[in-house]
Amino acid sequence: MNILVLNVGSSTLKFQLIDTDETKIAESTDRRLARGQIERIGGEAVITLSAADGRPSKTSEQIRDHAAAVEHVIGWLTSPESGVPITRVAEIEAVGHRVVHGGERFTHSTLVDDEVWRGVEELIELAPLHNPHNLRGIAAARAVLGAGVPQVAVFDTAFHHSLPDTAYLYAIPYQFYRRYGVRRYGFHGTSHRYIAYRYRQLTGRSREATKIITLHLGNGASACAIVGGSSVDTSMGFTPLEGLVMGTRSGDLDPAILEFIAVKEGMTLRDVDAMLNKQSGLLGVSGLTADMRELLAEESEHGDRRARLAVEVFCYRAKKYIGEYLAGMNGADAIIFSGGIGENSPEIRSRILAGLDWFGITVDDGKNQAARGAEGRIDADGSRTELWVIPTDEELLIARDTWRVVNGAELRY
Ligand code: ADP
Repeated sequence: MNILVLNVGSSTLKFQLIDTDETKIAESTDRRLARGQIERIGGEAVITLSAADGRPSKTSEQIRDHAAAVEHVIGWLTSPESGVPITRVAEIEAVGHRVVHGGERFTHSTLVDDEVWRGVEELIELAPLHNPHNLRGIAAARAVLGAGVPQVAVFDTAFHHSLPDTAYLYAIPYQFYRRYGVRRYGFHGTSHRYIAYRYRQLTGRSREATKIITLHLGNGASACAIVGGSSVDTSMGFTPLEGLVMGTRSGDLDPAILEFIAVKEGMTLRDVDAMLNKQSGLLGVSGLTADMRELLAEESEHGDRRARLAVEVFCYRAKKYIGEYLAGMNGADAIIFSGGIGENSPEIRSRILAGLDWFGITVDDGKNQAARGAEGRIDADGSRTELWVIPTDEELLIARDTWRVVNGAELRY
């Protein structure tokens, strides 16, 4: 079944066309037919497209809105020049959408009907930066493909629906949870879920027999504690701002800082919130860039003090979350690195894992250096906990969930 996977942001659209058949999952028959992205929607957009594993073509063109972006992608997919093995719009059989916030209501991937649409709309209050764009993507796909093609919403929050109340409640007056749903929801769920699934597949362990910590370290970053296949704690909270240090987000901080800075700088709380989301994290501490690769280069080539500090704060925070989850779960079978930084940077992995030998956690330097952008095990002989690098693949999981929803098969979280 040809499934178009869409991930729509404020001015971006990322897509993959995946041919998947869940009845043959053990044979790994999924075929990646095309992928690409459109950036700077609303102006002169940058369009990157590639068929299967072919070379990407990069062009620019005026794309006025999300509907035009979806139209462009589908037009290209079905054109003979694209090299993608479909020629008719009808060959796109379903669409899987990444939807960021599913609140407490959407605990599973689901077919988008009018009621689900309204539900996602109601959650805009909790995810004003994300859900409106996700809805735009759904509307655009429906307009281009017609109402007969199923649209499935796969929620970033859904994997964390298993969090116990001890992990999701904030210690503030309980009525704010009851009245407004102020609690930890967690995000990046599709990524953590994929990594946990892939770990079980690689090791042959059963769902029940696994206790793992997953670290998704990219521009956005989060950690997750997973017991028996279920998320029991995660670092992002009411919004994706909480937890680890990220490219431009602060992660954890003392909430009293918000009013203090607002008063000192004559800022509104909204300004402070934007500052914590867009000008903090690696960018804020270094004053240079949100890009980890650039920071590591600045540190090693020029000895930049603030670049080093940003990297150190990032690694120390990640290390503390490992400690937190080792305590919360009473140990772990494996710690798994993923995301752009986690997959590609042996340097960051070794700095996060340094000094955990009290826990019996030790890295094999050679294996760590060798694992770049590929699956691999990096713990030293005798390490009490396995250490892994597993590149994430949210699109594949979205495609598979979409297949399951459309075919009425059971979804497992
Ligand atoms: P997103 O969260 O936007 O999907 P990614 O998962 O692609 O982001 O991660 C982007 C981050 O990964 C950037 O900070 C980038 O510098 C970092 N990164 C990519 N490759 C490397 C590398 N070889 N070494 C260090 N950091 C890297």
